Amino acid sequence: MHKIDIELVEMTMDVMKYAIDRLSATQSKIGKPKSEAKLKELVGETITDKGIGGEYAFNLWKKYLMKATVPIDHPRHLAFVPASPTRASIMFDLVTSASSIHGAYWMEGAGGIFCENEAMKWIVSLTGLPDSAFGVFTSGGTAANLSAMVTAREYWRKNDAFKGEKGLIITSIGAHSSIKAMAKVIDVDVLLVDTEDRLHGEELQHTIKGLTKQQRKRLFSVVATGGTTNAGIIDDLEGIANICEKENLWFHVDAAYGGGALAADSVRHLFHGIEKADSITIDPHKWMFSPYDCGAVIYKNPELAKEAHSQEGSYLDIFKDEGADGFNPTDYQIQLTRRVRGLPLWFSLATHGTDRYKEAVERGIELAQIAGKLITEDPNVELVREPSLSCVLYRRVGWKPEDYTNWTYENHRKGFALVTPTKWKTGDTFETVSRFCFINPDTTEKDIKMILDSMV
Ligand SMILES: *Cc1c(COP(=O)(O)O)cnc(C)c1O
Repeated sequence: MHKIDIELVEMTMDVMKYAIDRLSATQSKIGKPKSEAKLKELVGETITDKGIGGEYAFNLWKKYLMKATVPIDHPRHLAFVPASPTRASIMFDLVTSASSIHGAYWMEGAGGIFCENEAMKWIVSLTGLPDSAFGVFTSGGTAANLSAMVTAREYWRKNDAFKGEKGLIITSIGAHSSIKAMAKVIDVDVLLVDTEDRLHGEELQHTIKGLTKQQRKRLFSVVATGGTTNAGIIDDLEGIANICEKENLWFHVDAAYGGGALAADSVRHLFHGIEKADSITIDPHKWMFSPYDCGAVIYKNPELAKEAHSQEGSYLDIFKDEGADGFNPTDYQIQLTRRVRGLPLWFSLATHGTDRYKEAVERGIELAQIAGKLITEDPNVELVREPSLSCVLYRRVGWKPEDYTNWTYENHRKGFALVTPTKWKTGDTFETVSRFCFINPDTTEKDIKMILDSMV
């Protein structure tokens, strides 16, 4: 299978050419989905007894299928949390694939895991956690949150008094949906403090005071958000940390989106208190310019994660042998076999240096400020709240929810932009508004202006 033949060389060249074209393209169109039936009609049967051949399949990809995807790094893709992997990281994603590394155990993955750990040291240094802290790369923020929540719950249940109790977590409605979803996975309840704005220590204290005796017994963790996905709001991490310490609760900070901003001097002070966290989630595939998928979970005391996650099995014992002595990423999160998904980030950090990362994140924050100014100057639109991190919520005066939806579809249809509406809660009412989230440093003021001008 690995015999070098002409066909293999040609195919490799074709793939490399595609990658080069994609990496050097400046203005691609935003692709749009088609129904499955339509795609099938275009490409026909692709999985057959004899195969359709690489060249033919690749052409189908280029001609039809790739065009039915949205490039998340397009400068006018400002929906959800976009991404903007560096060219260096994408190239090393190819290298990661070509190297076939099993990233669970040092015995097999030492060189790759070493690189991941170098990148992780930089991320941990941004948090201000003590030297004992460390983390691992996961498939994303959801897996990182789940890994942290399992660790917190197992640690809590080490105390006999809590064995058999169903756990309870407090967070706010600003928390990401994955917190609620992963609470289902580990069968714990979630109590939501009813604020989408900054969750304050006092409010948390008030909520804890209001619990029944039984609820208080079940409460084992508080999840704060370091940059809400919807609006970029950072909870009062310092205040929450102090209460968690006083109440003996596991303090998890979900900074999947906002974590990259720890590198930005202009906003670093907003994260005060994160250095007291028991665990932190950060997604390098969001604001650290890594390709999908790459999340990270960091623990103040990694030994607790190891107790919760280390897998046992007679066929796995060999990995704990002396010759294989080293850091085993599988011990600190939910996955066994894993891609060394921190490797592309390592190469990119090594290539560019951390200063470039700082600048690129600052640019996202600056773009949010620029958008805020343009919105203030434009009589058609108004800010719903001041921009926070790189998120901007604004309304088009006089628009109903369906106007936002139609506008989104129209822009998408034209391949011009992807900007989606969201909801913002004030008091008891949810208002449909428009939202920008900036990640890509190549987005320009002109891009923003063009999008605002399209809201006629
Ligand atoms: C995106 C996000 C997540 C989920 O991360 P995935 O990588 O999509 O799994 C969790 N929390 C926050 C705050 C997020 O922004």
